[in-house]
Amino acid sequence: MGKIEKMSTSLANLIAAGEVVERPSSVVKELVENSIDANSKSITIYLKNGGLDYINIVDDGDGMDEDDVLMAFIPHATSKIKNEYDLLRILTLGFRGEAIASIASVSTMTITSSVDGVKGYSCTYKAGSKIESEVTHSNKGTSVIVKGLFFNTPARLKYMKSAKSELASIMFYIDRISMSKPSLRFSVYHDDKLIFQTTGSNSYKTLIGEIYGVEAAKNVIESSYIADGYKTHLVLVKPSIYRSNKLEITMICNGRYVKNYNITNAVVDGFHTYLPIGKYPIVILYFDIDPLLVDVNVHPTKTEIKISNEEELCMRLKDEIIKALMSTTHIPEREINKKESYLKQTIFDNIYSLNENTTEYISNDKEEKTVITNEKIKTSMENKLIETKIEQIPKPIESHFPHMEYVGTIFGTYLIFQGIYSIYLVDQHAAQERYNYEKYYELLGNPNQPTTELLIPISIHFTKEEALYIDSNIDEFLKIGFRLESLGNNDYVIREIPLWAKLDEVDSLVYEILSLLINNKKIDIIHFRDNIAKQISCKASIKANHQLSRIEIDSLMKNLDTCKNPFTCPHGRPTIIELSQKDLEKMFERIQTK
Ligand code: ZN
Ligand code: ZN
Repeated sequence: MGKIEKMSTSLANLIAAGEVVERPSSVVKELVENSIDANSKSITIYLKNGGLDYINIVDDGDGMDEDDVLMAFIPHATSKIKNEYDLLRILTLGFRGEAIASIASVSTMTITSSVDGVKGYSCTYKAGSKIESEVTHSNKGTSVIVKGLFFNTPARLKYMKSAKSELASIMFYIDRISMSKPSLRFSVYHDDKLIFQTTGSNSYKTLIGEIYGVEAAKNVIESSYIADGYKTHLVLVKPSIYRSNKLEITMICNGRYVKNYNITNAVVDGFHTYLPIGKYPIVILYFDIDPLLVDVNVHPTKTEIKISNEEELCMRLKDEIIKALMSTTHIPEREINKKESYLKQTIFDNIYSLNENTTEYISNDKEEKTVITNEKIKTSMENKLIETKIEQIPKPIESHFPHMEYVGTIFGTYLIFQGIYSIYLVDQHAAQERYNYEKYYELLGNPNQPTTELLIPISIHFTKEEALYIDSNIDEFLKIGFRLESLGNNDYVIREIPLWAKLDEVDSLVYEILSLLINNKKIDIIHFRDNIAKQISCKASIKANHQLSRIEIDSLMKNLDTCKNPFTCPHGRPTIIELSQKDLEKMFERIQTK
């Protein structure tokens, strides 16, 4: 009787395991969540072969006594709802309490734990059956080892991707959990090499450095706001550093990593024209929302959430991002030899503490052991941050730009300016394009814009298809200042044009707008305000290889400075870049670099 009972349980676990234990990252996720629940301050993760061969999670949390260790392997042993936060969590994860049993049914799993750091207890299950348990010595906290994941379910094992992509999936999760718990210390070792560490500093800037590298840390903008029913803290990396996908737009809601399609898009909209097309920002959004406003029932095992006042929240978010971006300078500093990977390594090499005072630290490339005092590491990190502060040039009030003096123009395209510690290069086309874009965007939003009647009307011939679009949109053209009149036979004349349009570009402008209408199959021109403004601003701007006079340069820079965002063209390319004196000195080897 007892035997049958046991078999059906492990069978049930095996079935449950298929649903909850998808791959090594789901094991890591489950075990790390348990460590966090146990009030751990530091969590160390050891992995082998992308976690497929070996996963060991060691924490310094509360630990478990003998009974708890035994109970952990029994399904539903840990599901306790203590408060609303737990409820949100349980709803999001959906399978609390079954996880350990599920993992133990598809691996060899050992839990070793101690409450007092003296006496410990250890228990091992293999394929869902207990094979060993003993009293042992252990540090305070819990260590869980999972060996040979899916060894008894070869069908599932076959579906595992390479160790590299399993590791990538684990690290994606570790990054998110570090963001949601900035005061926790995480260390990850893969095949005996330290590959990731956070200091648990509780500083977002430091955290960004630990995850995305020193350059990103130098470019953090933070801002907070409170709205009805929620509180938000935004951690943005300036748009000079970006990614090719939206994955680094992270949302942490009530301490949990969650996803929301509309919020991600609101962030992308906030960065509009600050980034090149197809590029996305690095952003962490912290939301504290009244749990009653969050609907986690979209899918019980998915992280996707819905928020009851989502539309309003998204609009506010976009505005706040624009405000935050407008409040700082975005002149990207260019180095000839970008040593991004070296910089990322430096931060690993320089920060860290595991214990209060000293830490045993294994250098990544040399594998030699050194002991570094906590104080030393901290100072070197602080020096780095101070260094970046000094590099920032004092900015005159009410100007977006630091003090800049015109030196000359190169290639008929780039204006050179000298600052105090840097030289600046301005792309004259991009600069004027930005100014024109903001100007036209405003103008197009105004339905009663000034127009001029043409003394000699311009005649245009269209194809039949084009003519049909013109006919059905004649009022829309009028709204932005173009009065077209049909002469029949697909021939038209333009009698009136907006004041801003250049006479010799009128026909190309009309074609431009027409093609937008045809491609988008919409009739409201105001709808395409942004696209039209981009196209006409490009057309109306000085081209490369055109030498500007000194007066033209002065007025160009003055105009650019009046823009809301003078740092990128409407297509997201920089209008201005900086080359620091220090970089020049490095290039001429006046100062030594590694
Ligand atoms: Zn252009
Ligand atoms: Zn452009």
